[in-house]
Parts: sequence; C-alpha cells; structure tokens
Amino acid sequence: MEIRIDRTSSSRLPQVDFANLGFGSVFADHMFVADCLEGQWYDLRIVPFGELSMSPGLSALHYGQTIFEGMKAYRTPEGEITIFRLSDHLRRLNRSAERLCMQAIPPQVFEEGLKQLVRLDADWVPHNGSLYIRPIYFASDDQLGVHASKSYRLIIFSSPVTTYYSTNLLVQVETNHVRATDGGIGYVKTAGNYARSLSASQRARAEGFNVVLWLDSINRQFIEEYSTMNAFFVIDDVAVTPPTSGTILEGITRDSMIRLLSDNGYKVTQREIAIDEVMEAGRTGRLTEAFGTGTAAVAAPVERIHYQGEDIFLSTDHSKWPVLSFLRKRLDDIRTRQVADPYGWVSVV
Ligand code: PMP
Repeated sequence: MEIRIDRTSSSRLPQVDFANLGFGSVFADHMFVADCLEGQWYDLRIVPFGELSMSPGLSALHYGQTIFEGMKAYRTPEGEITIFRLSDHLRRLNRSAERLCMQAIPPQVFEEGLKQLVRLDADWVPHNGSLYIRPIYFASDDQLGVHASKSYRLIIFSSPVTTYYSTNLLVQVETNHVRATDGGIGYVKTAGNYARSLSASQRARAEGFNVVLWLDSINRQFIEEYSTMNAFFVIDDVAVTPPTSGTILEGITRDSMIRLLSDNGYKVTQREIAIDEVMEAGRTGRLTEAFGTGTAAVAAPVERIHYQGEDIFLSTDHSKWPVLSFLRKRLDDIRTRQVADPYGWVSVV
C-alpha cells in the first residue's frame, strides 16, 4: 500500500525544550492518516501535524465509536529507534474495534504507517525520555441515528515525553463509582472508559490524592485497576495482580512484567485480590511494594493507600523495593537493546 508523504516545510523541533517536556503537550511534526469506507482502505498519507476538519454530524462524537492506543518509541545508546510491542498494541486496538463494532485495521496499514511516521520524525525521540505514540481510530460517518459507522479514520501522531507521574502515587480507593461491569467494555481502550473515571479522579485530587483505584462492580471489594494503569502488590514476597476478566484493560506493560518476573525467579500470581487483604497486609507490614504499570507511567510506586477512612503508607526508599527495581531496569534494558530480547518485543524502525 502506497503512503503519500507531505513533509512539513518548517519543523517545530528547534522550539522544543527537551529538558521540560512533561507529558503530552508537545506534538511531533507529522501524523499518519488513513481512511476506510466499507472495508476499503484509501488515501494513506503522512502530513504535517495539524487540525482536522469534521462535520458536527461525525458519528464518533455522538455514538462513541472511538478507540485509541498508547505505545512508545525509544532511542538506544547506539542511536537506533525501537518500538515496543508494536504488534501487541495493534492486536489490542483490533480487539477494541471488534467490541465496538468497528472495521478491523489491517496490519500492513498500521505497521507501515507507524514505522514510516516514526522514521520521518526520528529526531523527535528524546535522548532523556521516549516518543509516546498515540493511534486513534474513530467512526467518521456524517449521519445521525444510532448505527455502526460505514466509514472510519485512523490517525497516528506522537509526542516526546518524560514520565507520566513525577511523584509517587497517592491512592484513593473508589467506593462509590465503578469503572466497568461484567459484559461491558472495561477491557476496551475507548474514550467512554476514561470519561466515566473523571469525576472520581477529580474528587480524589481535591482530597489530596493523585490516582483512583477501582473495585469490582458486584462486591465492591476486588481490586480492578487504576484509571490509567494496572495494579501490582507485593505481599509476602509474591507479586500479585488481578486477572484480566474483561473488566480491566489488558495492559501490555502488565503482561511484560508478569513474563519478566516469572522468567527471572520472582514469584508472581494473577488472582483476585480483595482491598481488605491489601489493607490487612499493609497493617501487618507484609505489603512491601505496590505500583501501577502502564506505557506512560512505566512502573509508578505507591506511597499511600486510602480506604474507608484508613491509610496505609509504604516506604519511599525504592532502592529497597527489589521487584520494582528489577522490572524498571530490565524493561528499560530490553527497550533500548542493552540486553537480549528473547520475546521479540522490540522492533527497530
Ligand atoms: N489500564 C488503563 C485503564 C490504561 O489506560 C492503561 C494505559 N494504556 C493501562 C491499564 C496500562 O496499559 P499498557 O501497559 O498497555 O499501557
């Protein structure tokens, strides 16, 4: 498939302050765009990053057929650019598409578009961070009435970033709202899941926390995940994370960490974990590490967990958190090709 390339005539790169990137507010020069009508893909193009023009009748805005991904490109010390678990991100995007009744994206459209984009914007991959890549995919019919759209648009753009959380996680366990229900769309990376998390997050922030931990919708007891990360707890030297039962996002970082732990002699289990168990382990000193995992956050350590009026505080000396330390280093080494990648996770573009 031919991709037309329309390069920017004036790169914004010289204006970027790479020492103060933060997360998600600076965008690289180009974006990849592809359209699909009734299963036929056409007009694949890389164009300067910029505004879109769209009808107020755009189906995605009304009926929520809109999904996305979040992945990263890294710069190795040798100067190569790598993308982490590219095909797994596409697989998840297509699982999201299937659940929301959207046309599947062919691998060659996604992979070629993404690789050519990252090659073109390679200078945007920071030396002190990574290039966060955001594919979005949405229904583009201009037609009211609830229906599965006939036309779709895929856009991939990117943003040079450093870490998502610059401080430790101060966790409020949410006891009122729920993020997802059985048979619903909790495992889908779609806008609605984030929209429904916002008011609890805002309330938590007003009360001095920076992240919400979601519980299951039936018992209001079993831990699901954070709003943007999966959850790990180290209790009695075993890393525990909730199973992916359809209500949580199947995190690619989560999966990577389970593999790395089990292949390197650490104990790791996927099982239901009650908030009461975490609090009890915290009270008795058996909870030695807790962290959230995600592409943007990588592995963010928890400092405080607040549930029903009680607080658990964890040590902030992360050099004494063996599981977190191992995971951060090994994952970074694999992504930047400092150690072998036995899993085939890394693509060099
Ligand atoms: N859960 C949610 C709700 C998320 O938004 C994310 C970030 N994509 C994750 C978990 C972690 O997923 P991943 O490791 O694939 O980034």
